[in-house]
Amino acid sequence: MSQDWRKVAPGGTVTEPGSAVTVETGTWRSSRPVVDYDHCVHCMICWVFCPDDCFQTENGKLVGVDYFHCKGCGICAVECPKKCISMQEDVLA
Ligand code: SF4
Ligand code: SF4
Repeated sequence: MSQDWRKVAPGGTVTEPGSAVTVETGTWRSSRPVVDYDHCVHCMICWVFCPDDCFQTENGKLVGVDYFHCKGCGICAVECPKKCISMQEDVLA
């Protein structure tokens, strides 16, 4: 809900905090992680380090990346022990 700025209390008041589920942090991204599944060993290190919980798993295996929330920080690519995540330029469709 938007509000007239003149009615906002000094110092600011968050009346409706955003939700990590609904806020599309992926729109900030300039590059995206691309996983080479042929070399992925499903160790889940990327899942542990991702600050936005973007790695999707199924039956203990890495199966995808949630690009709706991935903000392209690149931490996963740095931490992957097999170096099978590459950051690639992201362009708006
Ligand atoms: S860190 Fe690398 S090897 Fe491990 S699950 Fe993620 S992509 Fe696969
Ligand atoms: S680039 Fe950052 S936000 Fe995106 S999947 Fe990797 S660690 Fe998560």
